[in-house]
Amino acid sequence: MTRESAPATVDHEDEIPTDHPRYQDLVSRHRIEAGVKAGITHLQGMHAEGRGSAFDYLLGEETIRSADHAERVAAAELLLADHPVISVNGNVAALVPDEIVALAEAVDADLEVNLFNRTTERIDRIIAHLEAHGAGEVKGREATARIPGLEHDRGKVAADGIAAADVVVVPLEDGDRAEALRAMGKREIVIDLNPLSRSPRYATVPIVDNVMRAVPNMIEYVEALRDEPRETLEALVDEFDADATLADAERRIRTGGETASVDR
Ligand code: ATP
Ligand code: MG
Repeated sequence: MTRESAPATVDHEDEIPTDHPRYQDLVSRHRIEAGVKAGITHLQGMHAEGRGSAFDYLLGEETIRSADHAERVAAAELLLADHPVISVNGNVAALVPDEIVALAEAVDADLEVNLFNRTTERIDRIIAHLEAHGAGEVKGREATARIPGLEHDRGKVAADGIAAADVVVVPLEDGDRAEALRAMGKREIVIDLNPLSRSPRYATVPIVDNVMRAVPNMIEYVEALRDEPRETLEALVDEFDADATLADAERRIRTGGETASVDR
């Protein structure tokens, strides 16, 4: 039996019927709401979630082929990196805490809390939340380095974290910071459902997919590629076409039709 309605108020996501046609979206909304209540997600994060949800609807709420390929390339980037860092904000912490910790572990990356609306209180809460989900050391409390070109608070990063990284994963990053990180010479993996947003446009590897689908898929690709020779991973990275990937997602959103496949 398919239930057509979800309970109006949900205290725990177990109360959302798994056979509801909008199940994933209801879970996301619930997690963001719970994140706001717990003080780990900023109210602005709700607006971001709403925008993301609209784009996800238009993408068919599935991982399109070009995004799947980008996730595979991102896994290769992370396996090749000397010092990968995964940036975590309040939406990521609320939506995929287990998965982001597992990805960091799989590729031996640092986790760094990096907030657009930065307060030490919220950073501490997010760090505690990630630790409760199994994280080891989480950086971001001591943000002694700066990203050049950004105003004070928004430019703060850990000297031994993002500042020293060669590859950074920045899910749901804002456009200014994505641009500034690119200008610092970082290789950037951006997960963002809006292919027109500036953030994925500055990415080395833009992933137009929901972070809730993208991160688990990246972990699977890390495991699948882990024992591949370095040359195979380098070829994947070299042959990747970021512009074609963004164009493919935009075409899907505008036409709703089949997307052209990206060569594997
Ligand atoms: P800019 O062009 O400067 O990047 P913006 O309007 O995109 O501006 P952001 O703060 O970057 O502002 O917006 C948050 C982004 O996060 C949106 O593009 C939204 O689509 C994306 N987003 C929200 N939820 C998710 C999610 N679950 N998975 C992936 N992306 C998401
Ligand atoms: Mg953006």
